Amino acid sequence: MPEPRLCSLSDIKGVTPNIITGEIADMKKYNETKKTYEPYSVPEEWNCPITCYNMRMYVNCARCGKEIMFGDGYTSMQIHNDYGLGYTVCEECHEKEWQERRAAKENAD
Ligand SMILES: [Zn+2]
Repeated sequence: MPEPRLCSLSDIKGVTPNIITGEIADMKKYNETKKTYEPYSVPEEWNCPITCYNMRMYVNCARCGKEIMFGDGYTSMQIHNDYGLGYTVCEECHEKEWQERRAAKENAD
């Protein structure tokens, strides 16, 4: 089995092109309190595919940037593309998203 390596562009389906224009879909982040999406971006050097052909390849958490194996990541509940598909986040950020969602829900009640 080959050694895990950083997920490269050729492994990535995550750059989801707009069906009409071919442009890469924007990232956006759902604000649990405001219940709206806000513009979101990651540093250019982060590698944040929406999906990856190989679960053992490394990507950056779309929230904190930590390098994680794609298969160990979680689908973000907040950081989405234009089609509502979630980017990959690490376990800690996944937990933070849950906490934010619970907090927003409690404050709304
Ligand atoms: Zn993270």
